[in-house]
Amino acid sequence: MARVFAIANQKGGVAKTTTTQTVGLALADLGERVLLVDLDPQACLTFALGLEPEQCSPTLHDVLLQRVKAADAIVDAGRLRLLPANIELAGSEVNLLTRTGREHALSRAIDSVRDEYDTVLIDCPPSLGVLTINGLTAAGEVIVPLQCETLGHRGVGQLLETIGDVRSFTNPDLAVRGLVATMFDSRTRHSREMLGDLEERYGVPVLGEPIPKSVRFAEAPGRGRSILTHAPRSAGAEAYRAIARILHQESR
Ligand code: ADP
Ligand code: MG
Repeated sequence: MARVFAIANQKGGVAKTTTTQTVGLALADLGERVLLVDLDPQACLTFALGLEPEQCSPTLHDVLLQRVKAADAIVDAGRLRLLPANIELAGSEVNLLTRTGREHALSRAIDSVRDEYDTVLIDCPPSLGVLTINGLTAAGEVIVPLQCETLGHRGVGQLLETIGDVRSFTNPDLAVRGLVATMFDSRTRHSREMLGDLEERYGVPVLGEPIPKSVRFAEAPGRGRSILTHAPRSAGAEAYRAIARILHQESR
């Protein structure tokens, strides 16, 4: 049975997609069978893995509407497998709203393939809407990427409240595996201060070491490349590999 993680933060640009892709690839390098789920209608993950979202069919949208089984929408993406998305997924959001049991659509869809993977990583959209609730309902654990530099951390409290709601209503065992400090700039005072009291402030663990801010990340995306192959010896690649090693150790 796969361990299923939702990578969530309703704030955009905090490295959810980068974390999903890079941790996924690093877990695959450790020999795991990894499935990535693109739960964002913007389909950045699908694109980053080298696929053209508009040319993907069927996609997660068709799966959520029960037109096809998850197994028939999952595609190979290098060493990973992907349940792809495109902009049609925005339509699922509308459709799901009118359905009973709407929070469980993704969970039910991936139940049938859970046995085939060691780890499933769900890349959530930048909102706390029905798609993210589906991601949190399908997951056993949540990873919250968090950008240290910006002041927008009130959002984390709101996300933790949503996670509390999900526990009450749809997924009582949902755990927060940890915050990941992303785009960390050790030169700024604010970043260092933030890091110091993250655990205390939110009452949840921090996973791994901060991921340094680096232009190497912006250079990497598209065509299935990641910082792991683009700049394998960079501090950013090493930090993501270290997170993958922690998760891999725990799963054994
Ligand atoms: P989200 O999925 O939360 O919206 P992304 O993963 O798409 O965020 O990242 C937003 C942007 O930040 C992307 O252009 C990505 O390449 C860049 N990025 C991610 N991690 C880092 C990092 N550690 N240093 C510098 N840029 C980064
Ligand atoms: Mg994203």
